[in-house]
Amino acid sequence: MTWYILLICLLLKSSTAGLSYRSYSGYKVYRSVQSSDEKQKLLEDQVESGGCEMLKVSHKSGRPSDFMCSPTVSDRLVRELGVEVETLIDDMGDLVKEQARGRRVRRQTEGVMDWDSYQRYETIVKWMEGLADNNEFVTLEEMGRSHENRSILMLKVGKSPAGNSTRAVWVDGGIHAREWIAVSTATYLLDQVVRVFRDNDTSTCEAHAVQAVDWYFAPLLNPDGYEFTHTNDRMWRKNRSPPPAGSSCVGTDLNRNWDVIGFGAGATSSNPCKETYKGTEKNSEPETQAISETIMKYKDNVRVYLSFHS
Ligand SMILES: [Zn+2]
Repeated sequence: MTWYILLICLLLKSSTAGLSYRSYSGYKVYRSVQSSDEKQKLLEDQVESGGCEMLKVSHKSGRPSDFMCSPTVSDRLVRELGVEVETLIDDMGDLVKEQARGRRVRRQTEGVMDWDSYQRYETIVKWMEGLADNNEFVTLEEMGRSHENRSILMLKVGKSPAGNSTRAVWVDGGIHAREWIAVSTATYLLDQVVRVFRDNDTSTCEAHAVQAVDWYFAPLLNPDGYEFTHTNDRMWRKNRSPPPAGSSCVGTDLNRNWDVIGFGAGATSSNPCKETYKGTEKNSEPETQAISETIMKYKDNVRVYLSFHS
């Protein structure tokens, strides 16, 4: 009898876990290329008013734009658009399920960093801490904390051969939660750079160049959003800040929240329910505050800034 009750509990637990992850069943992703800025603007307006979501916006005519539609609006919207549309993904739900299956299989090796699959926040943090503990040329810095109080970490890799005036390369990733491969790319590059320093070989021009500068790696800028894409919604993009007054929509697009000239202009939204919501004001988010303070601290050294998106 006890086993029977245990089995029911386990079944209930696994079915609720499954239900909480947004399925995207029947969602389609389309691509369309427009020949002029006017046609591009029209496409964006129609996609938005039709209830679909732009995933990639072309910044130049002749380049592709991608958008995702739910099954209830897909066919109708594509008919109404009246432009040539290519189907890129026939069922987003299949891809989400496939990735979720991969994550379940991996669970036995949880906590071990590798690049065979996408890693969780905890694994990445432990790996970064280990790099700092085990290499005297690696320094860990907590830039700040997220809305949900997760550490936003940065690793400095380098020996500052020119002291305070050593030139530096900044690498970051994961400001947009769903862009998992950006996080993997940044951590992979970090791993490769650490190996070059560890080998301490300057016989090749490339190895010498890597060690001649300092490297700042911040591979996971939006930890709350990233975790949310693993636990609830694969396509979440923003951070997880609570809704502003008068709205019930969570999250700000951190890459639209910087304190820059032109804040709020261009591909940005003032609507908290949109994917490109800019936030209540410049630098309103703890994540952007933490990151920008750190960048400003090292701005005189940084000569190259690499920010990965996907
Ligand atoms: Zn992005």
